[in-house]
Amino acid sequence: MGAKGKNEGMSKKSEAEWKDLLTPEQFEILRRKGTERPFTGQYYQTDTSGRYLCAGCSQELFTSEEKFDSGCGWPSFYDVKESNAIRTEEDMSFFMRRVEVLCSSCDGHLGHVFEDGPAPTGLRYCINSAAITLDPDEVDP
Ligand SMILES: [Zn+2]
Repeated sequence: MGAKGKNEGMSKKSEAEWKDLLTPEQFEILRRKGTERPFTGQYYQTDTSGRYLCAGCSQELFTSEEKFDSGCGWPSFYDVKESNAIRTEEDMSFFMRRVEVLCSSCDGHLGHVFEDGPAPTGLRYCINSAAITLDPDEVDP
């Protein structure tokens, strides 16, 4: 393992471009690996059916089908829409071993995944509300 490994030479957006594109909160989470305070985010209690897109690049990440109420104060999902929509990385910050979840397309930080979720996966994707945007399903009147 290299010490850095962060310069993947991606011809992606610059920090300044991201700052223009994102709200300060989204920037802090997606690009600086921040974490919103629990029970403050937009979606932790949401049960609207729809698709959750990456707030950085609009790639589809999760759906309401896989969302569950974990009580942890962040939107939680037991599975991803398509496994290639995210990538994971070991995160050793704060003296804990956690698994970081990133958008596979824009490399934005989404949250962490823990192994205490419900069946069938046993996983709990603990995602910051500010890292995702809900695209609600059309509802028949
Ligand atoms: Zn993305």
